[in-house]
Amino acid sequence: MAEEITKEEIQKLMRVRGNVRGAILQSHAIFIQNREGKGGVGAVEKKITELGYPVNFEKFKAGEWYPESLSTLIILTAKTLFNWTEKDIFEMGRSAPKYNFIAKILMRYFVSLEKFLAEVPNYWRKHLDCGKLEVVQFDEEKKYIVLREKDFKFHPIICVYHAGYYQGITEYVVKAEKISIKETKCVFKGDLYNEYVITWD
Ligand SMILES: [Zn+2]
Repeated sequence: MAEEITKEEIQKLMRVRGNVRGAILQSHAIFIQNREGKGGVGAVEKKITELGYPVNFEKFKAGEWYPESLSTLIILTAKTLFNWTEKDIFEMGRSAPKYNFIAKILMRYFVSLEKFLAEVPNYWRKHLDCGKLEVVQFDEEKKYIVLREKDFKFHPIICVYHAGYYQGITEYVVKAEKISIKETKCVFKGDLYNEYVITWD
C-alpha cells in the first residue's frame, strides 16, 4: 500500500470550507468501480468510514452539495488503497466529464470554443460553491488557453485531478489529435493562484 495519509493531514484538509456537487462524487465512484471493481468502491467507503468520515456512495445525489474536502479525501484514499500514481489521478479527472450528468448537459450547448470559454466561470460555479475559474488568455490560431483558479486550496492532488478534468473537457470542445495541459503556477508552490496552460495541434 502507498504512503498513508496522516491524521493531521486529514484534519487540516477537512477544515477547508467549500462544497462540490454530488455529481463529482458519483464520478469518483464510477472511476473506482471501472478500475478496481465494485469491491474497490466498498474498500474506499470502509477506509474513509474508519478515518471517521462515514460515506455511502449510493446516497450521494448529483445535484446536492457535499464538502470538497470529502471529495479530496475520497481521491486520496483511493490513491493510497490502490497504489495509484499521479497519472491515474489525472485519468480520474479526465474521465469525470463523461460520467457527469451536469457536464454533459452543459456541453450540449457549446457550439464553439469561444462560447464554451465564455461559460467557464459559470461552469465552475455550477460544480463548486467556492473559488473561481477564469480564462485569462485564449488564442484559437496559436492554439492555447490559459486558465486560472483563484481562492481554491484543498490539496495538491486536486491540482492533478483538475488538470485531467480540464484536459477531458477540452477534448470535447477542441478537435485536435494531441491536447496537452500543464500547471504552470500553483498555490502549493508559493503562487497566488493555480494556472493551467492547455495547448493542442
Ligand atoms: Zn496547484
